[in-house]
Amino acid sequence: MKVTAGTGKVYLVGAGPGDPGLLTLKAAKAIAAADVIVYDRLIHPAVLRHAREDAELIYAGKTPERHTLKQEEINALLVSRGRDGKVVARVKGGDPFVFGRGGEEAEALAAAGVPFEVIPGITSAIAVPAYAGIPVTHRDCASSLAIVTGHEDPAKEESSLDWQALARGVDTLVFLMGVGNLAQIAERLIANGRPGGTPAAVIEWGTRPEQHTVTAPLEAIAQAAEEDAVKPPAILVVGEVVRLREKLRWFDIRPLSGRHVVVTRSREQASELTEALESLGAGVIEFPVISCRPLEDGPSLERLDRAIEELESYDWVVFTSVNGVRFFLDRIFRLGGDVRALAGIQIGVMGEGTRRAVEERSLTVDFVPGRFVGESFVEEFPEKRPGVRVLIPRAEDARELIPEQLRRHGCEVDVVPCYRTVAADTEAAELRLMLAAGTVDAVTFTSSSTVRNFVKLAGLDTPDFRLPETVKVVSIGPVTSRTARDLGLPVHAEADPHTIGGVVQALLELLARPASGEG
Ligand code: SAH
Repeated sequence: MKVTAGTGKVYLVGAGPGDPGLLTLKAAKAIAAADVIVYDRLIHPAVLRHAREDAELIYAGKTPERHTLKQEEINALLVSRGRDGKVVARVKGGDPFVFGRGGEEAEALAAAGVPFEVIPGITSAIAVPAYAGIPVTHRDCASSLAIVTGHEDPAKEESSLDWQALARGVDTLVFLMGVGNLAQIAERLIANGRPGGTPAAVIEWGTRPEQHTVTAPLEAIAQAAEEDAVKPPAILVVGEVVRLREKLRWFDIRPLSGRHVVVTRSREQASELTEALESLGAGVIEFPVISCRPLEDGPSLERLDRAIEELESYDWVVFTSVNGVRFFLDRIFRLGGDVRALAGIQIGVMGEGTRRAVEERSLTVDFVPGRFVGESFVEEFPEKRPGVRVLIPRAEDARELIPEQLRRHGCEVDVVPCYRTVAADTEAAELRLMLAAGTVDAVTFTSSSTVRNFVKLAGLDTPDFRLPETVKVVSIGPVTSRTARDLGLPVHAEADPHTIGGVVQALLELLARPASGEG
């Protein structure tokens, strides 16, 4: 697919059922290329992060109570933007042609002569049961599947649905948009010949961390869903396949399923922790309290450039963070050099992540301490003697412990800044709302600066906001813990070892719970 800005084309894009990982590559590409994005209510914010920063975002979402934009208005909008020569991504939940009114939009575009393409999405009708451990077909018990609207009032006389055929002729029935009509749907199916004991499931917020499933025989499913206060979006699955959930349930029984954890790292670094937590089932709120940037022209940059020029004069380069590695090597590269500039120089690192960052650049690490706190670095450092020259490239505002102690042993230590950290405040308001609403189970801190920025941006330094008591605080190590306590935060667990893996383990110990049963 070639997506070029300026040629005028509308992409009818399916964004999948909720889990942002279920977006197709082609959909991500179209969203990234679009000048205009028209999106619906159930679109995950992570999907919209594929958009260009300057893209025009238009919310066309419909809520059950009111229509934000009428369908005709959406059609007209797509046509006019397409005619203006814009690349438009019309982003819909699931698949655009499965109860998505994509057909109508395509008709309007075709009639107006505006070029369009359809990018199918993973439909909730199939993916949501899958995430609940229900295959919609199965060799032993289901050879046919119907995807049915549950929106139509099943009590009305001239139904467009052939209820008898559905009740008797199709093995698996999946109803979308049916939460408000569960009782009537079940009644109608039973009246038309489906046994009342047929297994049924209602799945709410499928494929999202908050996914919730209620199972019951068809005759009791409406009441069970009501007792559990199930609300849209949810689907109803009816058929023998529902029984397989007992054996195949997987998504909502992972150790951190249903838990929400704030990951407070820079945008550049968040993914390792985020991925680990998501694979354990947690919903991760990535809150980039700090973001790392290259140095601007000025005395700091001059010092960095001088150190790079004189690199040969050092015996050791010590990296204390992934970003130190990244920005230091980027600068060498910018100045026309490459990793050969480090030939003959020993490399020491703090932490596993930093070691990996060095090794990923095809450099060998000569020293890494067994424990990841500054004190043990100096204790174990092999060349603590006078005259040994050590370069430490790192953040502008990092702590002094390692250089001070090495100097005490007579080493000649140069600390040069190679990047700066800036606070990102864009998502602060959103985070404050989530904390106040009680949806956050834990907050993680992986450095003192993440604590300081979090406290500031979450508004914890103002008298009108406090961290709710239900929120657990996990820190990566003693220095970070001390900063948190100094700023008035409780620390419920400290990672041991002081690594991302240690943080994950600490969260598991605090939050993992046995899967609850269901009706
Ligand atoms: N085009 C979409 C369906 C749009 S109709 C698709 O292919 O998935 C909207 C209905 O889809 C909702 O009322 C609900 O029944 C279902 N739905 C969509 N996403 C869902 C989700 N994550 N969990 C449960 N049901 C969902």
